Amino acid sequence: MEVRARILVLTEDSGKQAQPTIQKLLKEALKLLVESVDLNPERIRLEPLPENERALLAVRANQWKEQQPPTIETIRLLELIATRLVEPAGFVVFHFDTDRVWAERHNSENRQKFETIIRERVRRILRGEVPAPRFGSQRPRPTLTAEQIELALKRLLILSPCYSIESWLYQSTKEILAHCQERHDSEAHVLRIQSWAADRTLLDDVSRPKHEALTCVGDLHNEALAKAFPAEEVWLAERSFFESVERLRACSTLVEAIGYGGHHVQ
Ligand SMILES: [Zn+2]
Repeated sequence: MEVRARILVLTEDSGKQAQPTIQKLLKEALKLLVESVDLNPERIRLEPLPENERALLAVRANQWKEQQPPTIETIRLLELIATRLVEPAGFVVFHFDTDRVWAERHNSENRQKFETIIRERVRRILRGEVPAPRFGSQRPRPTLTAEQIELALKRLLILSPCYSIESWLYQSTKEILAHCQERHDSEAHVLRIQSWAADRTLLDDVSRPKHEALTCVGDLHNEALAKAFPAEEVWLAERSFFESVERLRACSTLVEAIGYGGHHVQ
């Protein structure tokens, strides 16, 4: 079976639930791009880094945000991203929290750092400006034109929730209400969750949802919440989930790859 997309899925969250959670949210996002989306895992591969991969430390431990000098783990991460972007059907989706509410998203240090540190350094690697160490049996990358480099960089995509990933996951309001009520009897929480259900734009403007708004739920149930995520409703609210989905949509090679299912021959 032909592989249409090999998506390296990176999330700054650690823990067992982090990767399945982000993959589920990504699948929901992909479904909004193409009506007849084909998410057959043989064709559309969502691939995390192996657990023994040292670059994971750079993704998870905030190392990627450090300006100078990059750690060996960050160098390795940048290499892996660059390599994936020039492979046929290669994409990278990188999740990091905006750490800002929606109204403050343009001041997000994380978003700025992603562009200036990750994207810019990958660009320099692809231009051959950085003497890249070779890791293992990696094949040398082909020499690319400036245009090819920019096309490759368009396949480096971000999921950047405001304020954090829980801002999306708490949209599974039925489920968080149940979890909250298992924990305690808080009228304030019930009213808060009901307001989020009634107006899907509100959660993007809640600061530190996991640490302040709903400490009873925290991040204990992220994977289950992702499974219940009301993607279409949240997309319609036109906040950070919409923004991330539309960024994916702007990548025409990704849309072509996942749109394959609608017209394939037997
Ligand atoms: Zn509660």
